[in-house]
Amino acid sequence: MDLIPFYKNNLHYIREMAVNADKRVYIDTAESKRHYLDLDKVELPQDSLMVPWYKLEKKQSLMRKWSFGIIPWQIDITYRKLVKAFYNHDSEKIIKHSADIGHYLADAHVPLHSSSNYNGQFTNQMGIHALWETRIPEKYIPTYNLFVGKAAYIPDVLAFAWKTINKSHNLLDSVFKMEMQTRQDIPAIQHKTYIVRGNQTLHNYSETYVDHYHNLLDGMVENRLRMSIQAIGSIWLSAWIDAGQPDLTKSKPISVLQDTIPYKGKTSLGREEWHE
Ligand SMILES: [Zn+2]
Repeated sequence: MDLIPFYKNNLHYIREMAVNADKRVYIDTAESKRHYLDLDKVELPQDSLMVPWYKLEKKQSLMRKWSFGIIPWQIDITYRKLVKAFYNHDSEKIIKHSADIGHYLADAHVPLHSSSNYNGQFTNQMGIHALWETRIPEKYIPTYNLFVGKAAYIPDVLAFAWKTINKSHNLLDSVFKMEMQTRQDIPAIQHKTYIVRGNQTLHNYSETYVDHYHNLLDGMVENRLRMSIQAIGSIWLSAWIDAGQPDLTKSKPISVLQDTIPYKGKTSLGREEWHE
């Protein structure tokens, strides 16, 4: 018995639902802060914070006002839900929480999800978020090697989530520095151009700019993507193991995608980070 057939059969749903977490930002004020942690604002020692969220909430009234983001705790919270869903052979919930945790894990691998300067607004680099997270991947993913090794059991998910966001934060300096460098290397007139996105035309970074920045980043985006794919597979596997390796061939197949989110036409209730 293994997990691969289950995920293969439901890949379509997981793909569909992977962006639900970003859609919820438009309808739920609590959602946005689940996608980041401003490590530049965290003053408490990390050791004191590396406990499950429900424990912090009970102990410290300050956590209720916490506005710096909660991504490592959110990964842990969603993980617990996923384990429970596996335990109950609840296919629908397994898919929902698998998609959500995949989303949060991917966000945690993005350096700009670890800082209050998440879109370069404090360093005059506005737009850097979509440049790193959308423009580069959409252009370069076909050239990346995204075959990663086997999934591995993660004994402490909360610690793993903290490690991931800290690694992201360590890369932040380069993320900003290389963008500054790109700005200097390329003549101003070539920075932006009109690009077509779906049925819209946007004034955005030129191909030359994207290429140059990508080169200076020297494999960073590919590397973080690979790490996040590896992390997602490992988290799914770990949740299944923690649930006692249930035989999912007995779980009822899901028929319709239920979790539709009425986000269209609404404005974001938190950080803008979704680029359709
Ligand atoms: Zn997100």
